[in-house]
Amino acid sequence: MPFDDSVESLRAEHEALMQFLYLAPVGLVQAGIDGEIVMINPISAQLLMPLSPDGCLTNLFTALEGVAPGLRLQCAQYPQPNGMVFEGLHIHLRAEERRGVPQILSFTLLKLDEARIMAVIQDVTAEVRRERQLRQSDAWLNAILTRISDYALAAIDREGRLCDWNDSIARVTGFGEHIVGSPYSIFYPPDAMTGEHLLDRLREADANGWSMDEGLRLRADGSQFWCSALIAPLPDREAFGDDPSAPAYCLILRDISDKRAATEKRRQAAFCDHLTSLANRRAFFEAAELELERAAHTPRSLALIVFDADHFKQVNDRYGHPAGDRVLCDLANVLRDTFRAVDTVARLGGEEFAVLLPSTGIDQALASAERLRLAVSTRLVAADGAEIAYTVSAGVAVLDATAEGNIDLLIKRADEALYIAKAQGRNRVASWTPELTHHADTPQRSRHAG
Ligand code: GH3
Ligand code: MG
Ligand code: MG
Repeated sequence: MPFDDSVESLRAEHEALMQFLYLAPVGLVQAGIDGEIVMINPISAQLLMPLSPDGCLTNLFTALEGVAPGLRLQCAQYPQPNGMVFEGLHIHLRAEERRGVPQILSFTLLKLDEARIMAVIQDVTAEVRRERQLRQSDAWLNAILTRISDYALAAIDREGRLCDWNDSIARVTGFGEHIVGSPYSIFYPPDAMTGEHLLDRLREADANGWSMDEGLRLRADGSQFWCSALIAPLPDREAFGDDPSAPAYCLILRDISDKRAATEKRRQAAFCDHLTSLANRRAFFEAAELELERAAHTPRSLALIVFDADHFKQVNDRYGHPAGDRVLCDLANVLRDTFRAVDTVARLGGEEFAVLLPSTGIDQALASAERLRLAVSTRLVAADGAEIAYTVSAGVAVLDATAEGNIDLLIKRADEALYIAKAQGRNRVASWTPELTHHADTPQRSRHAG
């Protein structure tokens, strides 16, 4: 290689290096072993200038003397011919040293050889603060999790999956670490929550600041406990950006088994039918309003089945009213066994019952109604030496755009279908079609009596 060319390539290399030093996103300083600055890039100048006692940057050690004394000596005493003198040394600058804003610099010093040193300087104020905050919230959570014994606290992501596991969850529910990533509905008994309900609670928490419910929840060993569950959005969840698996809500489960008796008694009195212990009209309409509200927010399927005992007047006439009551209780038991925990099974009055089925389409609703009808048709209810056989008819309607979230209209349609089932001979299931409303001058079976 001719001499000129090699000089030229060395110069180009040097130029590239200088360019890098100049543009590097960290502060870089090259200096003599005594600290006399040979090269300093703009970021270093910006970070060091306010510290310099004389306002000019000629010596690195002099510039830092006020905030990190002894650097010069430690560098001089560094025993090896080259190597790392300091790595990531944190230099804390008080507010008055930084024009009102406290700052933390990370300082790394390399000894290149006996004559030269290189310094890397970074402003790590934000990182350190974040770390400190994390440590604080960790400590805070730990205090809660270890000192309060009847709460389980978990973070869930915006799709309702559990993000973490801790001692409090183990203590209250008995579940182990494998639950991370599962939907929080694992704490609910089977069938007690639909995938849509899972998200409904999160939306309610978004809209109101929190969402609370109370009821039987599941432990890992299959046992159940009376629990209040609170879901609240996490205040700093935006910090995680679009990550769908980042913590977005906190879930607090509280074992309130000791309060259950009192709550249950109140709930029973207000929301249960006295004869069958099924939901009463009030509970049914409250559940229906809630489901319709949710469906209006996030459209989903919702089915309604109305059941009416066939020729029930004859049952009473033949066996007596108390025997009729026993038949109604038997029907209530079959209803309870047939439908899911998430369905609302209610006695609307007399020998008329209704079941509201969230996230259920027409086919599934018809199949469930048919299952109930068939189960009932095989029952025999013992009463005063007699065995009473009985049957029911059912009408099914599902929520669609034309029902416009109107529960009375949905009931009217299920009733029109029920009327058809009765007219076709009873002990059968019929579903509502638009022709029923348009053609039939169906007599109104009063739903609100009783
Ligand atoms: P259909 O097949 O058309 O429904 O005939 P039905 O006899 O069941 O209809 P109807 O509405 O004429 O009669 C309902 C009967 O249900 C009348 C009433 O005595 C009886 N009933 C209503 N509530 C109760 C109750 O709480 N206990 C008992 N044992 N009978 C009741
Ligand atoms: Mg009736
Ligand atoms: Mg009847």
